Amino acid sequence: MKGMTILGARPQFIKSACMSLELKRRGVQEVMIHTGQHFDASMSQIFFEQMNLKRADYFLDIHSLSHGAMTGRMMEEIEKILLLERPDFTVVYGDTNSTLAGALASCKLHIPVVHIEAGLRSFDMKMPEEINRILTDRISSLLLVPSQAAQENLAREGFESFDSQITWIGDVMLDSLLHFRPFSTPPKGIPKENFILCTLHRQENSDNKERLMEIIGAIEEAGELMPVVLPLHPRTRARLEHEGLKLDESKVLVIDPVGYLEMLWLLEHCKIVMTDSGGVQKEAYCFGKLCLTLRDSTEWVELMAQGANFLVGSNKEMILGALHQHLEDSIIPDLDIYGGGKASQRALDALLNFFKETP
Ligand code: UDP
Repeated sequence: MKGMTILGARPQFIKSACMSLELKRRGVQEVMIHTGQHFDASMSQIFFEQMNLKRADYFLDIHSLSHGAMTGRMMEEIEKILLLERPDFTVVYGDTNSTLAGALASCKLHIPVVHIEAGLRSFDMKMPEEINRILTDRISSLLLVPSQAAQENLAREGFESFDSQITWIGDVMLDSLLHFRPFSTPPKGIPKENFILCTLHRQENSDNKERLMEIIGAIEEAGELMPVVLPLHPRTRARLEHEGLKLDESKVLVIDPVGYLEMLWLLEHCKIVMTDSGGVQKEAYCFGKLCLTLRDSTEWVELMAQGANFLVGSNKEMILGALHQHLEDSIIPDLDIYGGGKASQRALDALLNFFKETP
């Protein structure tokens, strides 16, 4: 059996790590397309090296385009490869343009799509990710969901009456976290403890000057309370430069994006997390850290219900108020809600079962 993995963005490299191992272990041939959506060394190559990921068989080098142009060009190239390789299925991860392009190209060639991280919703159609994930879910044959909330979302939207199969597997990111945690390493020049870890890259924040200024103001003021470590995403760096904004580096330790092993170390040793990332919200929880989410919505609602995650939006007072309130708090995570590190194994069980049942 031959599967085609289609990916292109940082979180997808991390999500694919244990899936690739499991595909291999079960004797499924994996061919990989890297669309190039994330392309610079600190956003792509470092993950392939550090995590010893499977090398991509095809690299499309498609990036830095508008949503329509990027998705369209990716589809065109992916289609050619699918026609050549004729895989039995494709695997797509999450909610990026690479996810949607891969799913659309496959579905139109009648190649079953396996969507990992299906069913997540922010209920905010202004987010490009929300559009990508809803459309990808609709055209996928096997929807592998990471959380109970995701499963409920699909049921509410009527997916159970569609011609697709829905299976809860847990979160493949937790598999990676548990697998690579023993190898975590400190980045150079970082305090050993008592720091705030911050990441910022969502389009709704980086591309909105008002929101960006408010958040930056909050991060700088937080830095007066405790050192803030900010591995800065290239998109946010570019937007800051474009808007003529500069972070006060006497208050905030701005560093380049770090590799996964360094990120795991930062998560393990920080005091609290401030982020607008999807993946980092869950990782904070899995390390027992509280998370202030710099957004107005989250797909990981179970973390809010547990009092582990607080939606603080972009309002400076709100962010700082929550920071003062929760700086000393921690939580005991229940890793079973995300599958306890066996999501990839369950994914392969579901996949092999699906093909046994589908002629
Ligand atoms: N990450 C990393 N280095 C960094 C920032 C994030 O390795 O400098 C990892 C992080 O631990 C998580 C993933 O990248 O596993 C999250 O990616 P991102 O925040 O870009 O995307 P999202 O999860 O929001 O889709």
